[in-house]
Amino acid sequence: MSATTAVADQTVCAAPLPVLGRDVTVPLVTGGEVTYAALDYAASAPALQRVWDDVAAYAPYYGSVHRGAGYLSQLSTDLFENSRATVAEFLGCREGDQVVFTRSTTDSLNLLAAALPADCQVFVFETEHHASLLPWRDARVTYLNAPRTADQAVATLERALADREPYGPALVCVTGASNVTGELWPVKELAAAAHAHGARIVLDAAQLAPHHPVSISELDVDWVAFSGHKLYAPFGSGVLAGRSDWLREAEPYLAGGGASRKVARRPKEAGGGVDVEWHETAARHEAGSPNVIGVYSIASACKALTEAGFDQLVARENQLIAKVREGLAEVPAVKVLSLFGDDAPRVGVISFVVDGWNSSHFAAALSAEYGIGVRDGLFCAHPLVRTLLGSDPQNQGECGAPEAAPGEKSLNAIRVSFGAGT
Ligand code: PLP
Repeated sequence: MSATTAVADQTVCAAPLPVLGRDVTVPLVTGGEVTYAALDYAASAPALQRVWDDVAAYAPYYGSVHRGAGYLSQLSTDLFENSRATVAEFLGCREGDQVVFTRSTTDSLNLLAAALPADCQVFVFETEHHASLLPWRDARVTYLNAPRTADQAVATLERALADREPYGPALVCVTGASNVTGELWPVKELAAAAHAHGARIVLDAAQLAPHHPVSISELDVDWVAFSGHKLYAPFGSGVLAGRSDWLREAEPYLAGGGASRKVARRPKEAGGGVDVEWHETAARHEAGSPNVIGVYSIASACKALTEAGFDQLVARENQLIAKVREGLAEVPAVKVLSLFGDDAPRVGVISFVVDGWNSSHFAAALSAEYGIGVRDGLFCAHPLVRTLLGSDPQNQGECGAPEAAPGEKSLNAIRVSFGAGT
């Protein structure tokens, strides 16, 4: 338990950002209560107090967006569109880039998958989170083998792109920071490789954006996707930002009001039915009444993180990472999972196995006996975790996998994750 105790000891670090739930107490199986230790930020981070305050201040004034003439509707529409501008600034968007509001990273990547031009070839590492791995299955996908260094990742992609048919559109999808190992991927180098071979690249920034600045223009990626609930905003909103051309040319992700500019009945003599002109802006993919509170929360979180300063946040988080890793290294039965090695730069996401323990039982004991909330399982990245565990690919272990005897390979893992509110 030394590692988790270390996380709670913040005396060596600058103050965390105020988040909700800091004082929540939870019952222990041994009796009594303890203050909850939220160490599952990679799944969903607690909302920043600042985000909650902003939402509470706005809530009495909200009205329909893009649909009302009343004062509150106008106010909400301004707030919604200003939020779009805030997110564009946060992401360093280029002239002409679009910010589309979605429900989550998963939704954003599925939207892009639905907007792929015909015959698009997609390149994706098998190590990706399922949200980045699976949406492309209707396209021609090349799955790239797990690299064991960041340089190898670039070389693997370069080789695959060099072998591709030298015509037609291509897309690379890569994650910025792993939700399993926390390791940073060489996004800038992968983007350069993609562009050198005429391909585009989308960055899954679900785990990167809460920890590091993400600039579309500096990284030179074509799109970025992230989720509000991992960026200290509440659930239900996400972002796909980047180039507008494929999005503008695609069928709307959802058909309905808001996406359509003009709808008219077709005369009977012309066959009947309806003719639709769709918007060419982000609204094309935002049909239906939008999640204005969710969108405003994302903008508020972007502002809060920018004002806190990523330099400070990164320095502090690196201290925490070092403490946790040191603590884990003191326990001989613990093996920390890593793709790129111990020295790889990383965010506050650390997965490990404990010799002789079923990870699910271990995680349950942390909760029941210590009030520490972590995650166990294969973290929606089954191929990656199985590679890291060296387990049989046919083995179906997820939560509830059988106990591994001492010395036997674990079938799933435990993940500790933290961030600016820890
Ligand atoms: N990508 C990565 C790297 C993630 O860690 C996650 C969630 O854990 C996702 C995508 C999916 O995010 P969401 O569930 O918010 O769609």
